[in-house]
Amino acid sequence: MTEILIIGLQIRLAPNVGCAECGETAVAIGSGAGPDMPALYCTCCERHRGYLPKAVADFLLTAIEKFGRPTLPITVRHSQLVAPSGAVAIETFTTTL
Ligand SMILES: [Zn+2]
Repeated sequence: MTEILIIGLQIRLAPNVGCAECGETAVAIGSGAGPDMPALYCTCCERHRGYLPKAVADFLLTAIEKFGRPTLPITVRHSQLVAPSGAVAIETFTTTL
């Protein structure tokens, strides 16, 4: 149930991880492929942008429970969160709330 907290949350990918269709760097978390792998969609054209790794989803949930839901997109830097193929390949990341 707590996964619902992150649905619709926007993440901005930086630097230069734009949508292949429209170039938008912001993605929104959708309900996608089940509770362990929320899907990511382009906020501009709604193209599927990959999946949010459970570790990142858990981190976001923890942050929301502690600090509240952010009103601005969270920036994910130095991320391989969404590879051009849509595959998930995250190793290291930092976020700015
Ligand atoms: Zn797009």
